[in-house]
Order: sequence, then C-alpha cells, then structure tokens
Amino acid sequence: MRMNMKPETTGSGLTSQRVRDRLVERLRANGIVDERVLNAIRTVPRHLFVDEVLASRAYEDTALPIGHGQTISQPWVVARMTEALLETSPKKVLEIGTGSGYQAAVLAALGLEVHTVERIGELLRVARKRLRQLGMTVRTKHDDGRIGWPENAPFDAILVTAGAPALVDALKAQLASGGTLIAPVGPANAQALVRIRQREDGSFDEQVLAPVVFVPLLSGIVD
Ligand code: SAH
Repeated sequence: MRMNMKPETTGSGLTSQRVRDRLVERLRANGIVDERVLNAIRTVPRHLFVDEVLASRAYEDTALPIGHGQTISQPWVVARMTEALLETSPKKVLEIGTGSGYQAAVLAALGLEVHTVERIGELLRVARKRLRQLGMTVRTKHDDGRIGWPENAPFDAILVTAGAPALVDALKAQLASGGTLIAPVGPANAQALVRIRQREDGSFDEQVLAPVVFVPLLSGIVD
C-alpha cells in the first residue's frame, strides 16, 4: 500500500480502525477472498467520502447518499468489482462514475493508474479535493462517461459504476487486448454485474458475477 495517512484520517469511535476491521471481516464472510482488496478497504477511510453527518455509518456494508440523487456504492459491491478487475492484473484502469471518489481511491490504493469520469461537476470537484487531501493520484475528467476517455485509451480494465440497459460499445472499444470490462447491466429492477473479457481473436467472453442495484448511467453533463 502506497498511502501515507495523516493522523486525522484514521478516525475514532464509529470510524475507528476496529470498526473498519469489522467491515472487512463481514466482507470476508460474504465471499470476498482477495487479501489485496480487503487490505485496500481496510486502509481507505470511507468516512471521508461521505457527508460528516453520515460518517458514523460509513463502515456499514451499505450504499449511502452523496447528494444529487447519487450514492457511494455498497462496500461489498466495490470489493467484488475490484476483485474481478484484479484477476487480469491490470495497470491502467478507467472508472465511469466517480461519484464520491471512493472506488477510485480503492483502485489507487492498489497501485493502479486510475482514470475516472463523472458527469456531475459538483460531485467531481468534491471527489478531486478528497483524493488530493489523501495524497492519491487519480486522473479525472468532467464528461459524459458513455464516450469513455478516448485520448487516454486503451485501458487494461474499465469499471462502470452506474447501470445501463446494455453494455456501451464505445467503452468496449477502449479496452486493451485481453482487457476486462465490468458493468451493471439490465433494467433498473433487475441489474446484474457483468464482466466481459476480450479474447485473442477480438471477440468477447461474457460472465454474470452478481445481482446488483446501481443508480442509472445518464447522458450529458451538468455543473
Ligand atoms: N463509484 C462511485 C459510485 C457513484 S454512483 C463511488 O465510489 O462513490 C454513480 C455515479 O455515476 C454518479 O456520481 C453519477 O453522477 C455518475 N454517472 C452517471 N451517468 C454517468 C455518465 N454518463 N458519465 C459519467 N458519470 C456518470
């Protein structure tokens, strides 16, 4: 882990290390096995990625509101997506839907080169500030993530953290050879976390990982 935590980020009471360790044990009990992922979740202070009034709930395994009708994903979902992403040992990754910045921070804590795109300017500004305060290097862009980040493509892995009825072709096209794309796909009430991998011949292998609930992938950008 390359993070250098300042003392005030280590938390106390309901955000203490003991409370974080309990979340990690819960994730382990619910099938998360990759120690690198569990360690990143233990290290990244999730309570700093939500509003202060919600900080005491930050180590519950639940999604929480972050304003603008959006949510910070449930820790189990972050862990499962990250675990699936690490299977192909990526270096350069793209996240669509920065939101609070928490998933990006978990990826950065794993030593990955992280690129993330968010359509809501205000959320992105807050996320950037948090990541900077934690000393984490993450490249961010205010844009409609459905077009990906063509200037920086290809990516070894792409993580979409908002749900769409179908996989977005522009994102598939920005995968490096052998790359992995992980995204919630399906109607709002029946989404599945899907992983696709590009085969040597350019075709795709698709696998369903888990049922999930994500906020929708929307078009356009807002301030
Ligand atoms: N990964 C986030 C979860 C955020 S929820 C976290 O760790 O906190 C999903 C986010 O996707 C929201 O912030 C939403 O504004 C954003 N989003 C939805 N559609 C988008 C799009 N087309 N491009 C970029 N971001 C999008």
